[in-house]
Amino acid sequence: MPPISFEFFPPKTEEQRAQLDQAATLLKQHSPDYVSVTFGAGGSTLSYTGETVARLHGIHGLSVAPHLSCVGGTRAELGELLDSYRAAGYRRIVALRGDLPSGMASTGDFRYAAELVRFIREHSGDHFHIEVAAYPEIHPQADDAMADLRHFKAKVDAGADGAITQYFFNPDAYFSFVDDVRKLGVDVPIVPGIMPISNFAQLKRFSDMCGAEIPRWITKRMQAHGDDAAAVRDLGADVVAQLCRRLLDGGAPGLHFYTLNRAKATRAILDRLHG
Ligand code: FAD
Repeated sequence: MPPISFEFFPPKTEEQRAQLDQAATLLKQHSPDYVSVTFGAGGSTLSYTGETVARLHGIHGLSVAPHLSCVGGTRAELGELLDSYRAAGYRRIVALRGDLPSGMASTGDFRYAAELVRFIREHSGDHFHIEVAAYPEIHPQADDAMADLRHFKAKVDAGADGAITQYFFNPDAYFSFVDDVRKLGVDVPIVPGIMPISNFAQLKRFSDMCGAEIPRWITKRMQAHGDDAAAVRDLGADVVAQLCRRLLDGGAPGLHFYTLNRAKATRAILDRLHG
């Protein structure tokens, strides 16, 4: 297997913390390269991200990558956070712009992720391995696909070492994105982000928000299973495992799983890939 990584979000209640611990315990059996923890927009879960990476690192012994988003953050705040992550011995950061909650005006010092990447390099030198976000199906706010590719390249030119993509279900979207950015001279690894399917209604809502396209054939086959949750999970694992296999056969350098703090759906995919 190529390197894999798992993404978690910061739990806010005791019950959610227990769920994260359970997921981490099961998923670490798959020897991830690292695990990443998301960062809430506008600083809302700022402290929870630090707390969560500390938990995954300290209790579970995992190599961690806190996400850092720049909307709403000042240079001083972001610099302090970088210093605390460095002092804790972390070596990876996922650097993002983030999204402000609607109605909240930005008070941050940076507008785009490329500016954050440049700042991390200025502030922390080469200490951190920096991943940035990539959008094979084009960022939902970008009205010009070529400009979106150039904006992606700007993050790499600013010092990013690699990228993780938004999830997608059409492997050709990934392969043409990689071809396009290679033509622009981007040579860093671009790891596909993989979304397991366990609850189709929830996935549809998410996908509408983040601009990920669910192919019609997947929707139709999922709808055919109606409320049969076990059948939906099985079909989801088959479809996503097949996607992963095609991506790896086509040269993807690794896989990054959006676990949603649950192990079951991700493990079902990994079991199929190993089998
Ligand atoms: P950018 O790269 O800055 O791009 C944002 C938009 O601005 C794009 O449309 C781009 O084309 C455009 N743009 C960039 N530069 C310029 C410029 N100079 N002039 C004009 N337009 C420009 N969100 C969170 O809040 N927390 C998280 O933890 C988180 N983790 C994520 C992890 C991954 C792997 C991915 C793929 C996304 C994640 N997101 C997260 C979502 C992400 O923050 C949003 O999609 C956000 O809208 C864009 O972030 P970005 O870093 O890609 O921004």
